[in-house]
Amino acid sequence: MNDHHRELATILWPDPDKQPTKVVRCRHCATRNRVDIPTAVFDPDSCRCGSCSGKLFIGPDEPLTDIASSAYEHSLDRKYLQALKAVPGFPQATRWFVANLPERLFHMQALSATIRCDDTQFPELTALMDKARQRLDIPYRPALYLDESPYMNAMTLGAENPLISVYSALLDQMDDEELVAIMAHELGHLHADHVIYKLMANLLLVLGRMSSNIINLLSFPIQLALLKWSRCAELTADRAGLLGCRDLGVALNVQLKFAGGARPGILRRGKLSIGPFIQQARELERKEMSSWLDNSLALFITMDRTHPFSVWRVMHLLQWVENGNYLDIMSGEYARVKRGAPEGEAQAVEVEA
Ligand SMILES: [Zn+2]
Ligand SMILES: [Zn+2]
Repeated sequence: MNDHHRELATILWPDPDKQPTKVVRCRHCATRNRVDIPTAVFDPDSCRCGSCSGKLFIGPDEPLTDIASSAYEHSLDRKYLQALKAVPGFPQATRWFVANLPERLFHMQALSATIRCDDTQFPELTALMDKARQRLDIPYRPALYLDESPYMNAMTLGAENPLISVYSALLDQMDDEELVAIMAHELGHLHADHVIYKLMANLLLVLGRMSSNIINLLSFPIQLALLKWSRCAELTADRAGLLGCRDLGVALNVQLKFAGGARPGILRRGKLSIGPFIQQARELERKEMSSWLDNSLALFITMDRTHPFSVWRVMHLLQWVENGNYLDIMSGEYARVKRGAPEGEAQAVEVEA
């Protein structure tokens, strides 16, 4: 474990006498082994099976072969999307939306106004996306575009023929591994079939602002439900981000930089520090758990947003790591897509327990 990871592990799990542990089944000989969660998260290579000495966790560049998006889907993402699908007319509206999606328009816009990255133009950036694809075992390669913007953002558009657009501010403020995490987050949206619903959420938001009060009032409940789902879908994609970069420190740094930026003027005046930021996430968790008023306020301040706030995202990512699901996946125990299933109808099957 390097010094940075040791420091981070101490911040996350400060009491040396109460280090959390978990039982992991060896992927080579099926022996059950108890591991320290901090060591397993920050130094997985050092965790060996007590019986066969094999590595308990998947290596940094080993693919998560055949992983299904359900393996890392956040329960709130699943719950709110199912609720939306039960709204009368919503499945029909989705079908109509997919059939009429102006996909060519997205490509035309990207082709006209941004830089297409491939093996000749910005191969370094394409290689970072390929690294994330390879780790998440995603066979398709979306078109990648670089878009000049002072804001840090990335987005995925399209359904049949998707594209990922990366805003140039990310290249100034994120390092390569952080960019891999961001690419993996975007690939997670594709893998989990979020893109159509995300587009619907954005479209309804725009139409709601443009349309008459009465139409806006009628569509308001569905707008709120879509936005609520959209924020929870980010939690699923953040998990894909961590599975893509495989370094919790990197995944947390991405959120830290999204919250405060990492421009020269900021870095000149101080060092971005992950410790106090984690304390913020812990404080938010305590407030949301202990007070219905704080919980309602947290919902109120995000209700018209497609994306949740960074500290909330950190809180949920840490919960996922601490409850052991991340380590289950990294030990090879995860839901898989059935080999040979026709595209679009791939079925997730639980790996044998
Ligand atoms: Zn073993
Ligand atoms: Zn996202």
